[in-house]
Amino acid sequence: LLQLTRKLIEIRSVLLSVDQSEALQLPSIVVIGSQSSGKSSVLEAIVGHEFLPKGDNMVTRRPIELTLINTPPNAASSSSTPAEYGVFPNMPGMGKITSFATIQKTLTDLNLSVPPELAVSDDPIHLQIHSPHVPDLTLIDLPGYIQISSMDQPEELKDKISGLCDKYIREPNIILAVCAADVDLANSPALRASRRVDPLGTRTIGVVTKMDLVKPEHGATIVRGERYPLHLGYVGVVCKAPPTTGVFRSIRGDKETPNVTGAVLRREEEFFGGENAKYFGRDKKAMVGTDTLRRRLMDVLETSMSSSLHGITNAVQLELEEASYQFKVQYNDRRITSESYMAETIDALKARFKEYTAQFTKPAVRSKLKDMLDEKVMNIMERLYWDDPRTLELAKLAEDKKLTSEELDTYWKYKLETASSLLTKSGVGRDSTGLVAEGLRQLIDSIATGEPFTFHPSVSERITEFSHAILRERMGLTADQVENCIKPYKYEVEVDDREWNIGRERSELKFTQEIKRCDDKLNDIKNKLGGSRKLNSLIRHVGELEKWEDDRKKRRFSAGAVGGTEVEDGVLEEGAPVLDAYKYSPAQIIDGRHALLLSNRLNLLKIRQQALKSRRCKLGPDQSAFCPEAFLAVVADKLAYTSTMFINIELLEQFFYQLPREIDSRILYDLDRDEIAKFARENPKIKQHLDLQERKDKLESVMRSLQSLVNLQKDAKGTSTTS
Ligand code: GDP
Repeated sequence: LLQLTRKLIEIRSVLLSVDQSEALQLPSIVVIGSQSSGKSSVLEAIVGHEFLPKGDNMVTRRPIELTLINTPPNAASSSSTPAEYGVFPNMPGMGKITSFATIQKTLTDLNLSVPPELAVSDDPIHLQIHSPHVPDLTLIDLPGYIQISSMDQPEELKDKISGLCDKYIREPNIILAVCAADVDLANSPALRASRRVDPLGTRTIGVVTKMDLVKPEHGATIVRGERYPLHLGYVGVVCKAPPTTGVFRSIRGDKETPNVTGAVLRREEEFFGGENAKYFGRDKKAMVGTDTLRRRLMDVLETSMSSSLHGITNAVQLELEEASYQFKVQYNDRRITSESYMAETIDALKARFKEYTAQFTKPAVRSKLKDMLDEKVMNIMERLYWDDPRTLELAKLAEDKKLTSEELDTYWKYKLETASSLLTKSGVGRDSTGLVAEGLRQLIDSIATGEPFTFHPSVSERITEFSHAILRERMGLTADQVENCIKPYKYEVEVDDREWNIGRERSELKFTQEIKRCDDKLNDIKNKLGGSRKLNSLIRHVGELEKWEDDRKKRRFSAGAVGGTEVEDGVLEEGAPVLDAYKYSPAQIIDGRHALLLSNRLNLLKIRQQALKSRRCKLGPDQSAFCPEAFLAVVADKLAYTSTMFINIELLEQFFYQLPREIDSRILYDLDRDEIAKFARENPKIKQHLDLQERKDKLESVMRSLQSLVNLQKDAKGTSTTS
């Protein structure tokens, strides 16, 4: 025995997964018949179990593609594999189902999942049944033709069902036309449909059910097919399901459905044997019985499969050539796997990360921190020195000799100490660590949201999540460590000549930059107004305005303090710069106030720049009180140096060490095969590559199987002709 059918059935299911095009279809047996013609009973008699959906309201709404696979009886009992079981290949989660009641329930649910407004769907349900009692067959059960339309089965449903059946009864499929013996064959919708597509009846088998309902001699006539001849003939059966329908079924619930083979066989023996043997005996040329039907179906399918072998081999060859060509042209025969894509992506991720870490060398970090601290120095200077009205007062007092130079020095020294401690206690640990951590976060986020992670949102999210987690964990620790190490500077900062010079020059540079910034802004305002004359007069005006406002505030305060009447708002007071108020728009007044601030600041900056450039400042660190900016620049430098050192050890090195390991453990080793496959297919380019490669592989393996079958067939023919 070639077992051709069995092998081709395997090939058929592979081909179905490759593509559904007609050229690649191997024949299957399609079961059609009107409702209640006994279709289900016939199928169940073949399988030997009740397993199809039952009920009044049209329970078959989707095609059921049924693959029967004969298993050797002894093999099953010795292993852990059950003797009989069903598999829904599209629902791998369900595994091997040994209960036919569960299969029945699943089929019912799948059928009822078709929305009522669609009524029928051409999306097939795939079911395999493995059993030592079934032949190797593929059968497709279709919704039964309906005769009369009712309320819940509208007219167009009739057309929908016959349309669906038409799709399946095309070549090369074999049509199993089920007709009831008690209904005139002339009225059989199944035979009518078959005749439309197979006028000569070369690929149609008639099954006459309910033979027990007509007189045996009449039944025998029908089965002989004299009135409506079919090349493959008719088989008469009696396979009324045992009386487990109706009330009994609902009570039985999910318990096992009975084995129907015995009951059917007994009934058929009773009916076709004994007295009736004179109508149905071997010599009467009438095929009867479920057993005969099974054998007939196997024969017919085998013949049909074997005659399709040549055609399908050619078709697969063509498809394979096309797939191989495409694979060569598009991918130069380069094979990939989901795993290799994953590994490549991870390598690229690490490489990119490494490349970017160059931004985090010690000098780079130190310069970033210095900028941040310089900014702090400027703020402290502004708060403590430039905004201090006593600065001018004191200078004047000293000039008038009302203050000794010692007294003046003490004042400035005290002020310098305050400034220095403001800087060292400003939360340098937190701020510097935060600055670097934020840089790392931005770096990671930009990598994790760039190509190819645009295709992989969930992995991208994972990367950002665990890298943020590392940063969060390291940040607190690092900040404390840094804070601890700069502690000595909070009490005393020693400065030598070299440091002093560097600090002084650095500070001078900062002033030059700041002066330029203010100059630029002031220039902008000047250009807006149209010249420096206009700017100056606006500044003057705003100055007067502010002075007057100041005075008014004071007057109000004293008036309020002595219990006098308040000066009302909106009442013009004497001396207000009222006339000029019409000269400028409110926007210009705002610009004016801004310009006034800038020009005051510029004056101060220039004075301080002079001081920094002065000979006295250049004398050395003992001029700290005279040039606090230079001193603070040195402090900032020391702070930046120390912070960098500890941020490097506690944050950067740890992060650079941990991240690649986390990437491996949280992505590479954490995802299972299915997740990796899903990951790879998220990238459309990779999906296309994998699909084509898979298609080519499947076609190749199908081609090999087909080739060996063709050879076997040749050998078989060879031996049969020589013997
Ligand atoms: P389907 O709608 O075509 O699937 O038909 P069923 O298999 O559900 O059968 C319809 C009805 O006919 C059921 O009540 C069966 O019990 C009954 N039936 C099926 N086969 C036979 C048979 O050989 N003899 C008799 N007397 N009744 C049968």
